[in-house]
Amino acid sequence: MCWGVGIPVIYLRVFPWPAKRMAAMTVRVGDRSAILLGRDSEYPAPVAFYLAHEMGHIGLDHLSPGEAIVNIDPPEGALEPADEEEDAADRFALELLTGRPGLEVSEAENSAAASPGGLANVVRQEGPRLHIEPGTLALCFGYSTQNWEAAFGALKAIYTTPAPAWEAVNRLAVSQLQLDSIPQDASRFLAAVLGAPVD
Ligand SMILES: [Zn+2]
Repeated sequence: MCWGVGIPVIYLRVFPWPAKRMAAMTVRVGDRSAILLGRDSEYPAPVAFYLAHEMGHIGLDHLSPGEAIVNIDPPEGALEPADEEEDAADRFALELLTGRPGLEVSEAENSAAASPGGLANVVRQEGPRLHIEPGTLALCFGYSTQNWEAAFGALKAIYTTPAPAWEAVNRLAVSQLQLDSIPQDASRFLAAVLGAPVD
């Protein structure tokens, strides 16, 4: 969808500065925006959230030309009052992924503590009914209850074949970029940044 509306999305396999904890960032160059993902996952749901959050910064017009917003995970100074634009980008992401800007997912009263397997079963059943991807629903549960152990454990059961998200994202990027129409130095640099994924 991002490439379709002219927003390039790539995974950085080489970091331009020592920011290993960067989850994702959005940069604006002229009137174009691009999303650079940093934190990889074997599962699509966490990456979908990082991406949707960055789409929020673009969609809500948080960037001026030449500006960049870097999102560190976990957020710097999590005890500080949350930044208004960060909150807005989170709500945008939640609404994009679930259809609801605020979604609380918790255990029913009197139910046993959620186990990873139990949560996986519930979200696989309820996700399609609610039109929410099951992994995303499991992460919503983690966020609402802070039971991240069950949420991340459930991801393992939901996605039976884990695969690094960066490979799929950069394979798509390579198919969209016209690497042979830019100078060789630039295309070599870009291939290195993209981790030179094979088709
Ligand atoms: Zn942000």
